[in-house]
Amino acid sequence: MSYSDSFFESSLIETIRTQTDLVALVSEYLSLKKAGQNFVGLCPFHTEKSPSFAVNPVKQFFHCFGCSVGGDAFHFVSKIEQISFPETVRRLAHKAGVPIPTPTEASHPVDTESEAIYQINEAAAERFHRNLVERPEAQLARKYLEERGISKETIKGFLIGFAMPGRGEMIAQMKTATPLLEKASLIKKGGNGYYDYFRNRIIFPIRTVQEKIVGFGGRALDETAPPKYLNSSETPVFTKGKHLFGLNLARGKKTLVVVEGYFDAISLHQAGFSNVVATLGTAMTQDHLRLIRRFSEKVTLLFDPDRAGVEAAVHVAPLFIENEMTAEVVSLPKGQDPDLFIRKQGKDAFLAKLETGELILSFVIRQAALSSSGSIAEKTKAISGIFSFVRKIPNQMERGYYLKAISDAFGIEEKDLRTDFEKEKILPVGAVMVSVTTAKNYLPEDEKTLLALLIQDQMDCTLLSLIFPDDFTTPEIKNIVHYFWDAERQFWFFPESLAGRVSDSDQSLFSALAVLEIASENRGALVADCIKSLHKKRLKREITKTQTQLKSAEREGDRVLAESLQHTFFNFKKELSQIG
Ligand SMILES: [Zn+2]
Repeated sequence: MSYSDSFFESSLIETIRTQTDLVALVSEYLSLKKAGQNFVGLCPFHTEKSPSFAVNPVKQFFHCFGCSVGGDAFHFVSKIEQISFPETVRRLAHKAGVPIPTPTEASHPVDTESEAIYQINEAAAERFHRNLVERPEAQLARKYLEERGISKETIKGFLIGFAMPGRGEMIAQMKTATPLLEKASLIKKGGNGYYDYFRNRIIFPIRTVQEKIVGFGGRALDETAPPKYLNSSETPVFTKGKHLFGLNLARGKKTLVVVEGYFDAISLHQAGFSNVVATLGTAMTQDHLRLIRRFSEKVTLLFDPDRAGVEAAVHVAPLFIENEMTAEVVSLPKGQDPDLFIRKQGKDAFLAKLETGELILSFVIRQAALSSSGSIAEKTKAISGIFSFVRKIPNQMERGYYLKAISDAFGIEEKDLRTDFEKEKILPVGAVMVSVTTAKNYLPEDEKTLLALLIQDQMDCTLLSLIFPDDFTTPEIKNIVHYFWDAERQFWFFPESLAGRVSDSDQSLFSALAVLEIASENRGALVADCIKSLHKKRLKREITKTQTQLKSAEREGDRVLAESLQHTFFNFKKELSQIG
């Protein structure tokens, strides 16, 4: 993303920037905790278990030491929403209440495709909702919702809608170009031209944390027209297994209750459980977990205690273990789903049920023991399967806890179990470390420290006069130094808007330095050491250079020059020995 080819006045960008608080902005997408001078959290741009995403609240920069993404508020929004720079400016201006001059037709950039789809989804959701509320064709749908106990307020709150039974209603109702409707998965092209993707279905808009509608889910009214549930097909903003229904409402809750179906989530929300999300009918994925981890610490999964429920638990258990995230399983009475349970037994019974949560691996162990009560061969096979889960646990005490649980559940001596567990030992999955490029650690410490303090505006002015651009040797660092050095007037300066100047290729190192935490105990001594170290290196470079020049002067017999260089050489030597 480049600032320079944007048509916005730089003063406008600056106004928006000063009116935007990066910490508050980032907090809308993930949980941040104060740590030293920075705020840290789990990076939204890559999967990680411990936070390497840092925000400097003073300089208003963020950087991830895991995936090296970094920048300012504009970079953050553009990256996380995957929108263009002009769109980001408009978005942040709107948030900050900064008016944007109406662009002329010529200068108006084309909105990104994603933004266009969000807009069309919003309009379609309104249209579906009005169908449900107003149209006579929706009579059955209204009755169905009523029978399932969904109130009018809930229908309005979730903007539940109805897709008309006709084939071409969407094209007729929406005054939008067909290619865009098709791109948004609202219509499809068939042998006889375009037809509506959703027909005769109750429609649930699926929203992001930011309340944007990414797609829809549709429940068939006519049981003879499968599938029972149909989700939008893939679009530039909708990917299967990436979204959680209800997350916009559940955002910020420490514990999330995860269910599968739309009606499960809606019923529970209606009963006052605002921390419920639904996986849109699929099993949980790594992407789901990544979304959840931004805000929540614990997940409660609701399962049928039948075979399918156990299989589902076995399927997702490794995901939670690998991500070191707590998951509890709550078993519902046989044949009941959350929707049925809350409607039949009520809020208090559901609350009590949530209290009975069992750690997911304990649940898996107990269920495996229950279903393999037969031969020792069967037990051994089941246990060996569970071992593979236990091996993924990084914490030894926790591994010990589960080995004991297996021993109890299967009635096998713990020491025999441990012998087998040790014997089969193979490399745990977690041990295959992903190599992570941390804070450009190949760069010299002294240069990094001084430049970081310079960027963070924490450098004592009197010390600045002791530092020169030539003291910095690494090309990447030199690039950044030049943003601060006025070559003509030979002094350091602090440009008002740094982020706008920094080129895309320098951005990552720049933001890394902007959030780099410099030890604050005795910082004066640290800075002095760094300056001394740079100074020494500069002198050594000068000495080598002078030596070379001296040799060549001697070779050419230029005695005057040689004598002068000799003099210079000794002066450098003397200076170096004085520094010590
Ligand atoms: Zn990252």
